[in-house]
Amino acid sequence: MHELALSQGIVDLVCQQAAADGARRVRRVRIAVGVLSSVEPDAIEFCFDVVSRGTLAEGARLEIARPPGRARCVPCDAVVTVAGRDQPCPLCSERRWVLVGGDDLRVLELEVE
Ligand SMILES: [Zn+2]
Repeated sequence: MHELALSQGIVDLVCQQAAADGARRVRRVRIAVGVLSSVEPDAIEFCFDVVSRGTLAEGARLEIARPPGRARCVPCDAVVTVAGRDQPCPLCSERRWVLVGGDDLRVLELEVE
């Protein structure tokens, strides 16, 4: 279950940042889990609760945004939204594109007190 390791990474990052800011605790964490990443948001939420126990991030509200897959189509030279890795470009129906976003997990925002 790689969500556990990912959640640990998020909590480490968030706690480091919060400690650097002199925060007493983390209120809210906003992360992005790309639709085309192989990450299960529900599992992240569950693991976040577990690994944040006893840290500055304990009890923090976790918000998960789901950015869509973004690809640069080679024939169109346009950035388009793709629903899956095997999906064609919605403009030209070709499948010659390069993924440029929506396949990763990132921390977007942090609210501390
Ligand atoms: Zn295209």
